[in-house]
Amino acid sequence: MGHCIFCSIIDREAEASIVYEDGRTAAFMDIRPFTPGHLLVVPKTHAANLAELAPADGGAMFQVGQRLAEALRSSEVAAEGVNLFLADGVIAGQEVFHVHLHVIPRTAGDGFGLRGRPTNPPREDLDYLAASVRGRLG
Ligand code: AMP
Ligand code: ZN
Repeated sequence: MGHCIFCSIIDREAEASIVYEDGRTAAFMDIRPFTPGHLLVVPKTHAANLAELAPADGGAMFQVGQRLAEALRSSEVAAEGVNLFLADGVIAGQEVFHVHLHVIPRTAGDGFGLRGRPTNPPREDLDYLAASVRGRLG
C-alpha cells in the first residue's frame, strides 16, 4: 500500500481535528464539509473499499457513526437531522481509498441532497433485482 491520507491521520502524521477514537476506529472533521460539522468515521485497519473491509470493522464504523449522529444533535453543530453516506468505488464518488462513513448534519434548506428518483417502478423489476442480489449473498 502506498501513501494513504487517512492512515496518516490515524498515525498522527497528518493534521486532523479528531472527534473520537477507539481500538478499531477513528472519527475526524471533513476538510471539505457538505455542511458544517460533517464528520468521517474510518476503520484503523486500512481497507480500500467495502470488499476489503472486515465485517467487524464495518460494524464498528457504523456504531460509531450512530453515536456521533446522536452527539451531533445535542452539540453546538446545527443538526436537525443526519445523513450517513458511504461511497464505494470511483463511480460512486469515492475519492479517498480508505473506507469511510460520512456523518452529515442536516438542517432545513441546507441544499445538500441526492438527485430525484422514480417512484413506484414495476414490482416485477424490484423482485427481479432482489432475487439477483439475494443469490449472491452466499
Ligand atoms: P469520498 O468522496 O467519499 O471518498 O470522500 C472523501 C472525503 O474525504 C471528502 O469529503 C474529503 O473532503 C475528505 N478528506 C480528504 N482529505 C481529508 C483530510 N486530510 N482530512 C479530512 N477530510 C479529508
Ligand atoms: Zn489507509
